Amino acid sequence: MTPMVQTDAVKRVGEQGNRVSETPNSMDHDIAVPGGQSSMIDPFGRMVSYLRVSVTDRCDFRCVYCMAEDMTFLPKRDLLTLEELDRLCTAFIKKGVRKLRLTGGEPLVRRNVMWLIEALSRHLQSGALEELTLTTNGSQLGRHAQALHDFGVRRINVSIDTLDAEKFHDITRWGNLDKVLDGIKAAQAAGLHVKINMVALKSVNENEIEDMMRWCHGEGMDLTLIETMPLGEIEGDRTDQYLPLSQVRANLLERYTLKDIPYKTGGPARYVEVAETGGRLGFITPMTHNFCESCNRVRLTCTGTLYMCLGKDDAADLRSALRASESNEPLNSAIDEAIGRKPKGHDFIIDRDHKGPAVSRHMSVTGG
Ligand code: SAM
Ligand code: SF4
Repeated sequence: MTPMVQTDAVKRVGEQGNRVSETPNSMDHDIAVPGGQSSMIDPFGRMVSYLRVSVTDRCDFRCVYCMAEDMTFLPKRDLLTLEELDRLCTAFIKKGVRKLRLTGGEPLVRRNVMWLIEALSRHLQSGALEELTLTTNGSQLGRHAQALHDFGVRRINVSIDTLDAEKFHDITRWGNLDKVLDGIKAAQAAGLHVKINMVALKSVNENEIEDMMRWCHGEGMDLTLIETMPLGEIEGDRTDQYLPLSQVRANLLERYTLKDIPYKTGGPARYVEVAETGGRLGFITPMTHNFCESCNRVRLTCTGTLYMCLGKDDAADLRSALRASESNEPLNSAIDEAIGRKPKGHDFIIDRDHKGPAVSRHMSVTGG
């Protein structure tokens, strides 16, 4: 683990005015050993070791499959402070979380988010956390890439659905492709491994998948394709956007040699190696192949709500437990109780008879 570099970011303050070095660490002892007594094991024997945290529901883009153009965001007073997010994440790490992904909304638009990343980096240094990473739209990477690397982040996912600037603007409504591409260059220059996420959209970018794959592999990046999921109300009909990845794979097989490989990053993607490019291609197929049997993750929103499954409405309010006491006892009990309710799986359907969303919240609330 690279030692934390003391940059100007050290002087950044959290919302309560704490410097990072002043973050309460007294609750950090007794970090759990994976599989140990305090590990989170759900009723189906799956160990929860991966926490995805949506640090904000806000975003500087309005991707057509993710948000409506006119979104109502949460009032700021409902959000957990950065200190509270740190305390919650630390409680999960003590319970055996080994991989933590910050997401959103757009995580890098949350004010002072680098304070949180620096605070969490102490768990990388102690070895309690294996990986701290984030999923971003890349718009703010140019200014944050170096600090991310300094705080121990080594891999990031950047979402790009097209390399055509005009189409990029159409899909994201507000995005600028050049800025994102510059952000990716800055991330690579800082030493971050970048994986590209591309949502496969029928008649929108399905003809670009091959070009995207060649570009990613040429730049030393993996590419992961994602099926659209029915989350939250958007304008338009999701049946029009839905492109099964089984079909994409079949099309690619006509021109490429795809070899299944056991490569895993802790997420739900299944990877192949593409002989012709020498690169890796991942498929996230919640619709055509339900990946729940090996699900090791839970999702925390920026208001402290824990979702045990992306595709179900059941949730636990951890904010009340967090605020109920300075001791972590109520919080730990609330987490245990929630993990005990983790469902076996979800059952997404997109067809002409199921036009509404499977769950009412948007991906930007739960964190993709
Ligand atoms: N703003 C960041 C970004 O775009 O990478 C992080 C949050 S975003 C919700 C995380 C991922 O979810 C992105 O790769 C995005 O493309 C994907 N996503 C959003 N809505 C989706 C949906 N309805 N179906 C499938 N993927 C979706
Ligand atoms: Fe923002 Fe990411 Fe949703 Fe696009 S996918 S609107 S970038 S949160």
